[in-house]
Amino acid sequence: MKVVIAEKEEAARRIADLLGGFREIEENGVTYFAGGDYVIVPARGHIINSTIRGLRQTTSLDELPKLEVAWRVEESERNRYMVFRRLVKEADDVIVATDWDREGEVIGYNIVRFTRRIKNPSRIKRAYFSSLTLGEVKKAIEEPVPMNEALLTQGLARNIADTIIGLNLTKALTLLFKQKYPNLTQAVTLGRVQSPLLAYIKKKTGAYIERDNHISNLSYIEKKLYIDLGDKQYELKLPVEPINDYVEVVDVNVAESLLPQAEKLFNTDDVMRASKISPGATMSIMETLYLKGYLTYPRTTSRYVRNPEFLAEIEREIRKYYELPESFSWRNTPVEPVEEAHPDAILLTPEGIRAYFEGRIRGREKFIATIVLARTIRSFAPPLKKKVIQLRVRYEGVSGVVEETVPWSEEYENVNEAISLVSFTRKPVPTPGRYRVIKITSPIEKVTSYGAFKSYVSVLSDTDLVSWMADVGIGTEATRQIFPSLLRDERHNYTDENNLPRTLGEVVGEIIEKELKISPSLTSRMEKHINSLKRLSELEGFIEEVAEYTRQLIEKMKAINIPDLTCPRCNNKAELVNRYSRQLRRNMLLLYCGNCKKYYEI
Ligand SMILES: [Zn+2]
Repeated sequence: MKVVIAEKEEAARRIADLLGGFREIEENGVTYFAGGDYVIVPARGHIINSTIRGLRQTTSLDELPKLEVAWRVEESERNRYMVFRRLVKEADDVIVATDWDREGEVIGYNIVRFTRRIKNPSRIKRAYFSSLTLGEVKKAIEEPVPMNEALLTQGLARNIADTIIGLNLTKALTLLFKQKYPNLTQAVTLGRVQSPLLAYIKKKTGAYIERDNHISNLSYIEKKLYIDLGDKQYELKLPVEPINDYVEVVDVNVAESLLPQAEKLFNTDDVMRASKISPGATMSIMETLYLKGYLTYPRTTSRYVRNPEFLAEIEREIRKYYELPESFSWRNTPVEPVEEAHPDAILLTPEGIRAYFEGRIRGREKFIATIVLARTIRSFAPPLKKKVIQLRVRYEGVSGVVEETVPWSEEYENVNEAISLVSFTRKPVPTPGRYRVIKITSPIEKVTSYGAFKSYVSVLSDTDLVSWMADVGIGTEATRQIFPSLLRDERHNYTDENNLPRTLGEVVGEIIEKELKISPSLTSRMEKHINSLKRLSELEGFIEEVAEYTRQLIEKMKAINIPDLTCPRCNNKAELVNRYSRQLRRNMLLLYCGNCKKYYEI
């Protein structure tokens, strides 16, 4: 018997459906699928998580940082872990078939290393597939390959760095806040990726009035030269002014060139930017499409397709439903080479294309599917055939006879195949000969005034935040979209539904920026370092670096004074407290004023 580890239940069910002949089994509340020689067992994301030993008992900043990382089965996943352990013990073979990314690698690795005691990734069998379609899944499971050590190392490194930095800094900040506000029950969190994001929000949101009545004066003389083609005159740009009122066109040159216009395929960041809905919703829709086998794996940096035949198949499928010009072809799709072992760019699978055109993809899903499909078609676009017409002109300038080739006009032969705005002006082309020219000189006085007392309001959407994170290189394509909503949730209370900082967000944002000086560039340097790791043996050195970074930050934290918060009504010092709101059914962060004997929302 072979145990196949899937990422989650929907994926396991889909794999079972594709391979066929499986029955559903339930054991202690855990659902899995058995058929033939296989048992497919779903994880539920990380059922084994990293934590720091001894942190809960810590009562003083002097005891920090704590650096001993321990792996622990999540309390809620005990049953699932026991099912895995029993099945793995009975199995001849275990195949990791989690999602194809760093997280998937870590999820599979942890289950295998703790249930089967195999630590060497080259001895772990791995099924990699880019879409949940029969061809891909069957081949991947029947012909597994060794686990990718680089991907695994990077996943573990990110996990460990987040744990060491996040848990230690959060503990330290929480201790500082509780010294000042003993009735505060929520943790006040800092995180490797969330903290630079919060500082950015604090810096970039706000409103202000600006007085600016800047006036600019510009005066210059514009000289233009026109060539007279009988009934009409056209502008001619010459490097030197002719002294006579005629020029000679000696020759006409036509240069033809091919202008590539096909666009690259989309990766995760691209879809997030292109969709007009929030990154969180975009990701959840893509996930649904993936689990139905309609979309390739949606967490990817790749704009590449490993197997060209797959792209050819997609083109053939689109042609069955959609009239694509003959010149549009998968051969035109720009190829961006990518590190080996990486999933494909985001594409509708042939099955997805059928579902799309047969009306089985609807509503929100259709929205995202359309964006992806349109991009794929645009990637097929042929190059534009551009014709540049130049004139060879001879005339007399102040210092003698000048002969120059000057631009005249441009045209596109296949303008009907353009996929973006293309514009040009049609002009008659003069034949060689002598032509009269007309010179016009006009002095220009230009005064521009920029109006005064403008108000600016700067608000950031989730998409702005996720795009910024991608631009500066913090977080990964798989995780970025969770951070805006994370800062809003009741465990953090840092921002509101418009991504405006709440009081606590202001205070903590200021600490991150001014005291800890956690900059996005520092964080992005660590991301780059993580992505360069190739072997598990490099982890030790990396962890030492993370530990040193954490030590430095804890040192800085010892000097921090948590600011006073004052009552909005009487301005006396107020207390920061948590209260559970029965009405809202959530934990709220409130200010309590002992003077007014009142709670205020902040
Ligand atoms: Zn008061």
